[in-house]
Amino acid sequence: MSWLSRNAARLIGAATAVGLVLTAASPAAAQSAIRDTEIEAIIHDWSAPVFTAMGLEPDEVEILLINENDLNAFATRGRIIGVNTGLILRTRNANELLGVIAHEAGHVKNRHTLRDGAQNAGMQPMLMTMALGALAIAAGAPDAGAVLLGNSQYFGTLSALRYMTHQEGEADNSGARALERAGESGRGLLTFFENFRSQEVFSDARRYPYFRSHPLSSDRIENLRRLVAEQPHYDHQDSPERVAQHALILAKIHAFMDAPNTTLRTYPETDESLPGRYARVIAWYRDGQTEKALTAVDVLLTEQPQNPYFWELKGQILFEEGRPAEAIGAHQRAVDLKPDAPLLRINLAHAMLETRDTAQIELAVDQLKRATALESDNSMGWRLLSQAYASQGKEGEARLASAEMYFALGAKTQATQFALRARDMLTPGSNEWTRAMDIVFASGATQDDVDDVDRRNSRNRPVVVPAAG
Ligand SMILES: [Zn+2]
Repeated sequence: MSWLSRNAARLIGAATAVGLVLTAASPAAAQSAIRDTEIEAIIHDWSAPVFTAMGLEPDEVEILLINENDLNAFATRGRIIGVNTGLILRTRNANELLGVIAHEAGHVKNRHTLRDGAQNAGMQPMLMTMALGALAIAAGAPDAGAVLLGNSQYFGTLSALRYMTHQEGEADNSGARALERAGESGRGLLTFFENFRSQEVFSDARRYPYFRSHPLSSDRIENLRRLVAEQPHYDHQDSPERVAQHALILAKIHAFMDAPNTTLRTYPETDESLPGRYARVIAWYRDGQTEKALTAVDVLLTEQPQNPYFWELKGQILFEEGRPAEAIGAHQRAVDLKPDAPLLRINLAHAMLETRDTAQIELAVDQLKRATALESDNSMGWRLLSQAYASQGKEGEARLASAEMYFALGAKTQATQFALRARDMLTPGSNEWTRAMDIVFASGATQDDVDDVDRRNSRNRPVVVPAAG
């Protein structure tokens, strides 16, 4: 599991999109996107048939995990669905989590936008920029985050955003019908909301942002109950595999987010289940009990040698312990078992770079190129590629990779600055030189802006970079 900005460029590109719902009290940096190949793959597998049934292209809908214990989820018209880890942990089964995702996809499908109390949708681009900044901070690009977070006075407003009541009904309908067409029960969609409706009398649900942005009402629940209860798949049960996947997701989130002692109490050694043992490996590793963690992960690997995520975890433990050469072997196994996962390649490359060995750095560059080809908006991949090139003395390529990183983060001014510096160091007409210019123009600079910079340079004056976009 890693902490990265994700889809920043797409988020900012979606000007009508809505932001994360932050409360005035939460510091911006507390909310960040987390990446976990295993959880993402499971949720994608569950959701894809439901998205298809709704008429959405599954590969165009991005599900973003937000590291925040509060119960919340949101959807943007840019086809991004954000789900807080806190919401996932409060689902009682896979069908409830899938129900929430189907509901959010219903907002996407119906092109709903969150509004403030005055029904004002006009401030949303601003709110989106702030949400993006919150994500960028976690990306290891703090300066980009600071730039994007310039308008923090609006944070208080975010918590006031909500969908209109009739939009909740529409999202429920779209979600429930898509679940049925995909052969899934709509029961979880109903029970998740029902559960928090019943808690509302204790004013517990009221404090969750999710139920401020997605208002609950008795009418809404009754309509939903009538709809899902008469559907043919209402009694359809989650498969044993899905039950196991849900338990594993919860264990992994608890283990990475809770204090190790808490995890070890939640999953005591008497718990011999796979999620229990998986959670304890993570807790021991995070607690610095490395040998215990390594022994336990090796047991898991003996049972499931083809599980790429157990290899990933072993690689992560070794890497964090300062044993990059050993981590390479484990991460390489993970990549071999799941070659289409960019994050696994980034882990491998990170370990390779850490050896500071010339041959390994060469291999890392190759892995990072593949990873960023698979996921062009992965800021971590670009950041490491920039480091790798710099350590090879390839200054132009290093700056180009930095330009790509800022471009992925939606920080156009910095992207332009780095791309122009890269251009001056790269061979004119080369692929890299052309790409640098593509970034400059895609960031909003014109040929005239570039000519201006060049003229000033030739007169030996300080470089003034055009303020792009
Ligand atoms: Zn809703």
